[in-house]
Amino acid sequence: MQTSVIGFPRIGTLRELKFASEKYFRKEIDTTELLETAKKLRETHWNTQKKAGIDYISGNDFSHYDMLLDTAVLFDIVPKRYQELRLSKLDTYFAMARGYQGSSGDVKALAMKKWFNTNYHYIVPELEDDTVIGLTGNKLWEEYAEAKALGVETKPVVIGAYTLLKLCRCTGSKKADDYVDALICGYQKLLQKCGEHQMAWVQFDEPALVQDMNEADIARFCKMYEGILPSARQCNVLLQTYFGDVRDIYADLIKLPFAGIGLDFVEGKETYNLIEKYGFPQDKILFAGLVNGKNIWKNRYKNTLQTLDNLRGKGIQTVLSTSCSLLHVPYTLRHEKKLAPEYLSHFSFAEEKLTELAELKTLAECGDYSANAIYQRNEMLFAESRNCENAEVKERLSKVTDSDYMRLPKRSERQKLQKKILALPEFPTTTIGSFPQTPDVKANRSAYRRGEISEQEYVAFNRKKIAESIAWQEEIGLDVLVHGEYERNDMVEYFGEALGGFLFTEKAWVQSYGTRCVKPPIVWGDVYREKPITVEWSVYAQSQTEKMMKGMLTGPVTILNWSFPREDISVKESISQIALAIRDEVLDLEKNGIRIIQIDEAALREKLPLRKSDWQKEYLDFAIPAFRLTHSGVKPETQIHTHMCYSEFTDIIPAIDAMDADVITFEASRSDLQILDSLREHHFETEVGPGVYDIHSPRVPSVEEITAALQVMLTKIDREKLWINPDCGLKTRAMPETDASLRNLVEAAKQVRSFVP
Ligand code: GLN
Ligand code: ZN
Repeated sequence: MQTSVIGFPRIGTLRELKFASEKYFRKEIDTTELLETAKKLRETHWNTQKKAGIDYISGNDFSHYDMLLDTAVLFDIVPKRYQELRLSKLDTYFAMARGYQGSSGDVKALAMKKWFNTNYHYIVPELEDDTVIGLTGNKLWEEYAEAKALGVETKPVVIGAYTLLKLCRCTGSKKADDYVDALICGYQKLLQKCGEHQMAWVQFDEPALVQDMNEADIARFCKMYEGILPSARQCNVLLQTYFGDVRDIYADLIKLPFAGIGLDFVEGKETYNLIEKYGFPQDKILFAGLVNGKNIWKNRYKNTLQTLDNLRGKGIQTVLSTSCSLLHVPYTLRHEKKLAPEYLSHFSFAEEKLTELAELKTLAECGDYSANAIYQRNEMLFAESRNCENAEVKERLSKVTDSDYMRLPKRSERQKLQKKILALPEFPTTTIGSFPQTPDVKANRSAYRRGEISEQEYVAFNRKKIAESIAWQEEIGLDVLVHGEYERNDMVEYFGEALGGFLFTEKAWVQSYGTRCVKPPIVWGDVYREKPITVEWSVYAQSQTEKMMKGMLTGPVTILNWSFPREDISVKESISQIALAIRDEVLDLEKNGIRIIQIDEAALREKLPLRKSDWQKEYLDFAIPAFRLTHSGVKPETQIHTHMCYSEFTDIIPAIDAMDADVITFEASRSDLQILDSLREHHFETEVGPGVYDIHSPRVPSVEEITAALQVMLTKIDREKLWINPDCGLKTRAMPETDASLRNLVEAAKQVRSFVP
């Protein structure tokens, strides 16, 4: 029995890569120093896996920003506007990822999207009509040689041709199919070069195979690999899939000459059935993804070993693998000093998953494992009660009725009433909630956490920040104000910490995009609200201004989707429990004079099942009602906002409208405004604030740019429904660019109000 890891976290145990990269961006360290940190991290990651006894260790899974962007750069898929900056290779790469504004030019970043059903974001590469796909990158071979010098034979990973093409955006008149031949040629060259370097294995990640595939998709995939694989010669190709099963293409896939095929047994509901139905070729190796790469609960060895036995019983050569890259779980439990062992004993982060793989390998090889102490310890863990139930929560949930999911009166009437009572100007301007988390803000929070300052001092500092930010927002001329979220580390972790039923960690960071990491809370038990969470901050903020202050909450779907969920109750039940807790908070805000309340559902779309046929029943049917449950109790004149960090909801517009919010703000500036046509077609009723500038980059949008965007929006959206706001919260930005951008936004609003009749 051998073991394989699809990919390893790259940020380091204590986010070393993040800090080095940010220093580099601020020009505090030079390229050499950044590259040195990266190299050290890779060395640690390989050695850790080697020490754990992993047989197939990935190479090229390190990235300075994103692995899809790495693959694009490997094939020289670099849009002209970035090449024309004439920056170094590394800086061109960062310009694509983050935008560039400086002495060499002014270019926006490439679009960013969520990676399948995860909270990881990838950079969307662009194929231009004259893009020449070639094999120009060196990273893969350099890192292979680097590992080899350390005595580690790696299997380099690249995103496969099919998934790469699926996720690229064609910006000219050419269609995706027009790039197929060039891509085949590029990957052929890649394999030849792998052969020249005498690599034993190379891994092509093809997660796009777990989505719905039609005949044309299947034909394209087969054409690509029939073209690519003959160039493999000595090098073995592992076709790696994850995040689901490959039901549409399985029968064709196993006929292609891959040396190994990686399948997900955790999220792939049909994976085992597919093998039963179509068999698995004797001459290939099955990389069985049985150790969950996405969640943090310990593996139940009994089930895993049973599956391994079954597979081997069928005569299948099996390698035990993670279900996806370990990029999606935190690095190590070693730094968690505050959680009691009774909790910790149930968890497994990336490093501990390596141990699980090793232990499972031992057990699988030892014959009668049931007598083995490792096995027995594991079984005991699953036998003990986790003490996580709350009878009151269960009781309350059982009493929820249909009318609790319905807000009255209907939205069009509420909107009329709200216009009158809130008396906002035309095209109201607002922001999405957070303001820059400047060093003083972070220092205040961490001093409080460490017990270095009293609660009073902590609160006094935040109140001062809130008051200053309100004075500043008033001076800029924004219409609906926010308190700035200075008390929050993260929009989900903050609520997780305040709600009963959650556990939180100290250092369990997971990469979200680039240098941005999140520390997802863990849903341990039934969820309930002990006491008001945000009310005091919002009430204080409202007391500082005559203008309208927006209360700021995170919605139940997002809280669950950005946490590590329980596996012993359904997602629906967990989301409903959280919805009731947030409902209490909404009603308390209203009772305390807050008249606009935003309930962010930044992650609603990302857990949409990857297959369309599962969308309604397995998700929307409970996620949308859960959102309604949070706000159905408020008065008609209380305005409910929601916010989403993306605009790819063209295909679920009716569901978004059915959330029954009064206003929705969403990310729009990095994508085209195609969504607006769809909103119109569907007679979307919710008022909308499509983001007018990208907050993921320090670039300052000009007034002209914003007015131009608004002019376009006004051709598609009824004027009484349009709001003006940035794409998302501003906490990752610095003050100077935030100030400049928001002033331009308000100026653009003024101009549009006066231009448009
Ligand atoms: N209110 C949150 C903020 O402004 C929303 C963040 C998000 O959507 N990711 O930070
Ligand atoms: Zn957002």
